[in-house]
Amino acid sequence: MDILAHALWTNYSAKTANRKLNKGKKKVHIKPLEAAAWGVFPDFFAFGIPMVMAVYKLIVNYMNHGAPLPLGGRMGFMDPASLNLSHNLYNYSHSLVIFLVVFIAVWAINKRPRYELLGWALHILIDIPSHAGGFFLTPFLFPLSDYHFTHGTSWANPYYMIINYSLLVIASIYFYITRSRDNLKLEEK
Ligand SMILES: [Zn+2]
Repeated sequence: MDILAHALWTNYSAKTANRKLNKGKKKVHIKPLEAAAWGVFPDFFAFGIPMVMAVYKLIVNYMNHGAPLPLGGRMGFMDPASLNLSHNLYNYSHSLVIFLVVFIAVWAINKRPRYELLGWALHILIDIPSHAGGFFLTPFLFPLSDYHFTHGTSWANPYYMIINYSLLVIASIYFYITRSRDNLKLEEK
């Protein structure tokens, strides 16, 4: 899924979880913005540095040789080395196994679970069925298994986009109208 949709869904999931937890009088508050940051972390980790590297190489190549920018396909602007680095980093940031190790380690260090990190797990769970056609399929069992779910629907499919963003608009209106509930809960704490 694209980064904006990941950020919004994680943010709204955190708000929903807070409302449910507050009903049960449990003293847990998940920071929605921090959860959303973890919700986009897997893609920033996998693509951030490699994309900067690739764009830098394109600019240098253009300045030295005047070579036209090879902008073809979805990742067509990336040279093989940058793309390879992306695939390697993608394995780590899109693995539920790696997530679990980090989540437990952070829990042990902080002596309490950092629920905001669950935004990272949610990202992986959303990605599993929303990647298709061999395009960055989600290696969610890396490094234990190289199984990839191959029957998903690409998030870039126009119908998928229309449905996804329609739901996000509805969710955004709902959370905007009912935002006083989040503020009340914060004031009580
Ligand atoms: Zn992703």
